[in-house]
Parts: sequence; structure tokens; C-alpha cells
Amino acid sequence: MISKKMAKAINTQINREFYSAFLYLAMANDAMDKGFKGTAGWFTIQFKEEQEHALRFAKYLQEQGTKVELDDLAAPKAEWKGLLEMFKDALAHEKKVTAWINELNALAIAEKDYASQNMLVWFINEQIEEEANCTDAIWMLEMSADSKGALFMADKTLGKRKDD
Ligand code: MG
Repeated sequence: MISKKMAKAINTQINREFYSAFLYLAMANDAMDKGFKGTAGWFTIQFKEEQEHALRFAKYLQEQGTKVELDDLAAPKAEWKGLLEMFKDALAHEKKVTAWINELNALAIAEKDYASQNMLVWFINEQIEEEANCTDAIWMLEMSADSKGALFMADKTLGKRKDD
């Protein structure tokens, strides 16, 4: 069994993962609206991944005998100036998520909760990848800033991301 405090903190994170999904779906929608189909595909995969994160935390809570409680989701922003601004917002959001995961781990350590610490290892590693993916996209879009052709190719490259 995990503590009530730990269960509540994980439950909060489940809602945050669903908000992340919602935010990335908003980004996919805006990219599609602007004609960037590759980027829309990239963010649609990200949207699915975030829901999987929420379900992964939910499964853990359920295995620990806790009922998951879903909360309201705030409406995300609906429009970005361009793809670079979109990915900069995505990176800023992922950095916040990393800080939240770290806080969960700090609580698990403080409580000598080894099961939660072990579960969180997957998320700690995942956050390294999430931040790196956004950083790579930002680099590519910064390199494409002065050329419509380069931006077109960047969108195509982002569209090659596969569901994993
Ligand atoms: Mg996530």
C-alpha cells in the first residue's frame, strides 16, 4: 500500500497528463489549420502518448488499491504564431512535467516508498526523451527560420515521426 498523500499526488499527476494530451491536441489542431500536416501528425502522436502516461499512472494507483478521480481540464491555448513558438511552449510544458515527476520522486524517497520510486524511474527516463524531442524540433525550426522551403521540409521531417 502507498500512503494517502502519495496516492493523491499521483492522482494529480494523472490529471496533468490528460491536460498535456489536451494541450498537444490543441497544437495538432492549430498546425493542421495552418496547413502543417507533418507537425499536426507529430502532435497527434504526442497527444496519444500523454494519454498512455495517464493510463500508466492510473494502472499503478489501481494496483495499489486506490480509485482514480478525474478532474476538470482547463481549455488549452488554441493558437500559436508559428511552429517554433508551438515547440517552445511544448518544451516549457515538458520542463514543468519533469519538475512534477521529480517532486513525486522526492515524496516517494521521503516516505521510503520503494514501489513508487521504482514506478517513477520509467517516467524520469521518459522526460529526458520528451525534452530532447522538443529541443530537436526547435533546433530544426530555428535553422528553417529564413526560408519557406526549409520550413516545408521541417514540417515533412516532423511528419515522419512514428507511433511507438
Ligand atoms: Mg507525459
